[in-house]
Amino acid sequence: MRPDDAANLAKAIRELFADAETSLIAKVAATLAKGLDDPGWAQLKLASIQGLLVVVDEILAGLATDAPGAIEKALTLAYSGGSASASAGLASAVGYAPVAPNSAISTMVASTVETLPAQMFQIRRAVTDMYQQVITRTTAQVSLGVLTRREASRAALVRLAQNGITSFQDKSGRRWNMASYTEMAVRSGAMNASLQGVVDRLARLEQDLVIVDDAIEECRMCRPFEGKVLSLTGARRAEKLSDGVRVYATLDAARQAGLFHNNCRHAMSIYLPGITKREPAVADPEGNALREQQRAFERRIRELKRRDAIDQELGGPEAAATRAKLRAKQQEFKAWREDNGRKNLSYRTNTTAR
Ligand SMILES: [Zn+2]
Repeated sequence: MRPDDAANLAKAIRELFADAETSLIAKVAATLAKGLDDPGWAQLKLASIQGLLVVVDEILAGLATDAPGAIEKALTLAYSGGSASASAGLASAVGYAPVAPNSAISTMVASTVETLPAQMFQIRRAVTDMYQQVITRTTAQVSLGVLTRREASRAALVRLAQNGITSFQDKSGRRWNMASYTEMAVRSGAMNASLQGVVDRLARLEQDLVIVDDAIEECRMCRPFEGKVLSLTGARRAEKLSDGVRVYATLDAARQAGLFHNNCRHAMSIYLPGITKREPAVADPEGNALREQQRAFERRIRELKRRDAIDQELGGPEAAATRAKLRAKQQEFKAWREDNGRKNLSYRTNTTAR
């Protein structure tokens, strides 16, 4: 289990939410599109919000049904992965003690799943705000006499939906769209599950020492811990080992100092003095650049999908062009993946199949 695997599992769940997000925006557009030429459109639309919310709630209920199972699967796999990698390569020296997912993993799944209802509430509110704002902005624009109602409502909705549906605002004021936020939450849950897998496995083997691996350059926050030996329980904190290596910190202290933060690319595994080889750092600037490019492709495609959903419902001269842009970008992404040997988005079918 590498951080990339956990990231792919989280991505699959992000796709669930991104699909729901696109459906929600399509429903907003479809509701706005009905009776566009009716002189009483704005009143009619404000009155039909209950009808819209019925559909919104159906979509959210679908998510609420699918997400917990997918989250459980992702975290359980992360846990087993952590457990399997804990003593990989050194199993002959310490033995093999498989650890089945236990109450620790159930607690982690529960604490991630538990955030869903609040998120659903925020999504519902964000959709309502979006819908009402389009009506207000459209009415204002149309009264200026420059745009038709269709043009004005499309422009307003495209603009509001550009970054998706916001379901969360963090302490720094950054607003997260519902899919990215879920991905972040699942990634952090998977990271914790994977570390717990290592901890539990090594506890079974009565081993207290781990070494932090050497990840690629981007993880600056964790640089001081690379190649360092940590004590899981604190029992061997600051001990000078038989091979001359000094135990650097406890796992808890290292985590408090930032190690294994969100989206961290580091992992840890058993350390046996005199047996474990310390691997030198391998920089991977190319892999990092490819990941960045892939993320940029994915972001752009999701944005075009949202716009396409709007244009398909509101019609008009832009609809064909938006669809063509989306298809072209998807083709470009496919060609890019083939060129760079990146896997097809198979994570999509992996986690959601139950
Ligand atoms: Zn890190």
